[in-house]
Amino acid sequence: METIINEFKEIAANPEKQLAMYKAQGKKAIGVLPYYAPEELVYAAGMVPFGVWGTNNKNISHAKEYCATFYCTIAQLSLEMLLDGTLDGLSGIITPTICDTLRPMSQNIRVAMGDKMPVIFLAHPQNRSTTYGLKFCMDQYNNVRKELEKIAGKAITDDDITKSIKIYNASRKARREFVKLASEHCDVIKPTVRSAVLKAAFFMLKDEYTAKLEELNRELSTLPICQWSGKKVVTSGIICDNPALLEALEDNNIAIAADDVAYESRAFRIDVPEDANPMMALARQFANIDCDVLLYDPESAKNNRGEFVAKLVKDSGAKGLILFMQQFCDPEEMEYPYLKKALDAAKIPHIKIGIDQQMRDFGQAKTAIQAFAESL
Ligand code: SF4
Repeated sequence: METIINEFKEIAANPEKQLAMYKAQGKKAIGVLPYYAPEELVYAAGMVPFGVWGTNNKNISHAKEYCATFYCTIAQLSLEMLLDGTLDGLSGIITPTICDTLRPMSQNIRVAMGDKMPVIFLAHPQNRSTTYGLKFCMDQYNNVRKELEKIAGKAITDDDITKSIKIYNASRKARREFVKLASEHCDVIKPTVRSAVLKAAFFMLKDEYTAKLEELNRELSTLPICQWSGKKVVTSGIICDNPALLEALEDNNIAIAADDVAYESRAFRIDVPEDANPMMALARQFANIDCDVLLYDPESAKNNRGEFVAKLVKDSGAKGLILFMQQFCDPEEMEYPYLKKALDAAKIPHIKIGIDQQMRDFGQAKTAIQAFAESL
């Protein structure tokens, strides 16, 4: 178990090494920015989907030339890595445009990359489940498919996509299972380990990743369920993968019971239907994702999302929620009052901690976490 965990940790900490390894194997890699790009198409083209969600190890320098200062660090540091050569091994990049930062960012990246690499624009529909929404989504995915075919130098068949969907569904299932096991065995799967295992998925071919994760899940399920004497929380936010920050949870005996994090469970909650038409199936999966800060909810007045998260806390046995709020993230900031309302109504204590990827001093966050642990 320790060997597998260490492998995941190594990959999560050094994505560039993975990129270099796949390149040395003669494979092409395609960068995939957040959120909800149909990675299955990249895999179906015989290429490696490579997650690009900023980095905790760099400062914004070159990207300043292209970005307004109020862009979140995830967007800016992703461009930074494209500009400073870190991601030179990519053969292309997909730029989804779900939020007000990613929309202009897709054009900044296009201008910045020039002839260096193809930039594949992807606009998801706001109205996801209507017939026209599904059709629009499928048209967009077909465009991504065509652009990927040009890079791969071969056609992507429906059969390739169907196989890829099965591989991705298996991977989502294994990650959901891991999240459950991580809570049951939180004495072994501490927050830093949990984060590294889930993060590694973004830099590995999904069949390779899933095989390793299933092995880890098997080992975990043989252990007796841990009688945790500390506190358990649900984490929420876009991304909280910084080991220095997560160590603050460990130092205060806080385990993660479940999460509502875009980089973690929100990315693998919903499977793709295994239908006859794989392109429509991918569009339908996007339509089926719900209770997500970034996706339009025609019934938002009902606050389904807030209640979904409150229920997640209760069902997981957590005693509270920690919201890691990305600085300059409009969708998360605008959503917060509604989340707070649902948590307060359910009498679930929570804290909101402002973070970004250039954070180097965690003193204030650590104090807040310690005080929260004591109050729980
Ligand atoms: S962190 Fe927020 S603002 Fe930044 S890319 Fe994600 S959703 Fe958009």
